[in-house]
Amino acid sequence: MRIGRAAGLTDPGRRRLRNEDAFICEPPLFAVADGMGGARAGEIAAGLAATALGEAGSEAQGEEGVVALITEANRRIWERSLADPQTAGMGTTVTAALVDADTGAVGIGHVGDSRAYLLRGGRLEQLTTDHSLVAELVQSGVLTPEEAERHPQRSAITRALGTEPSVEVDAFTVQAEPGDLFLLCSDGLPTMVGEDEMHEAIERAGRDPARAADALVAAANEHGGEDNVTVVLFELLAAVDGAEAVSTPLPAPAAEAVDPERNGDPDGSSATEESSASLRRHGAGPGGRIAALALIAGVLVLGLLALYLATTQ
Ligand code: MG
Repeated sequence: MRIGRAAGLTDPGRRRLRNEDAFICEPPLFAVADGMGGARAGEIAAGLAATALGEAGSEAQGEEGVVALITEANRRIWERSLADPQTAGMGTTVTAALVDADTGAVGIGHVGDSRAYLLRGGRLEQLTTDHSLVAELVQSGVLTPEEAERHPQRSAITRALGTEPSVEVDAFTVQAEPGDLFLLCSDGLPTMVGEDEMHEAIERAGRDPARAADALVAAANEHGGEDNVTVVLFELLAAVDGAEAVSTPLPAPAAEAVDPERNGDPDGSSATEESSASLRRHGAGPGGRIAALALIAGVLVLGLLALYLATTQ
């Protein structure tokens, strides 16, 4: 398995002056954080969470790795809030996915009401259960899911990162299949856009992460954009057979490959256009790959010829 295209996009929405969401789109790590707190505290909390996760490097692995990253982020936000009275009480949600491309295991951890969805086959499935008042009321049968969507307290979360010295992280592993598309989002998306419409927007975008991110953010704003909205999408594809790709002059599978390098911005300022532009910038493109392969083949032939001549003389 390999990580294919990925994109992240954040938008303040239509009602909020500031954007207190943050995201990470740095394969193999993807995350969304939605900050809360007075003044600029929410922004600081979400930013600290994104920074803590982003600094983890490649050591973290699997579900336990995600939990360790989120626990460390919690510690940093909590300590900052103790040291800086202006940020007292700040917190953030976090939903993070860590992909092990070799095994296809996607470790997902979350705290709060930012969500993870999986589009597999023709079905969009919510993977996470919100740590929110309305989610608990739905679970206990007090509210129907439809009532929860319109509930005035639908943004009240029951668990957050950084508000206590320790945090309970919900974590699980999804065994990915080729063609899977994962979506992480802040509550600004599902509170504005129903699941069917989200699914339709992704399909209309041809399941292209950058175009789908644009479409989802636009849909949230068309429905009122009452909150900051952030989305991160990434796809998992079948691994390319390395030996076959090198020995075949026509790099058919590789031509589809898009540079899985970072194409998001942890400070949340990047737009999807920048993301796709950066994808184009980073990749040599199919033409470049063919030229590179031809060059390598030429050098090899010349080398072998020289070796042959040297040994036969
Ligand atoms: Mg929000």
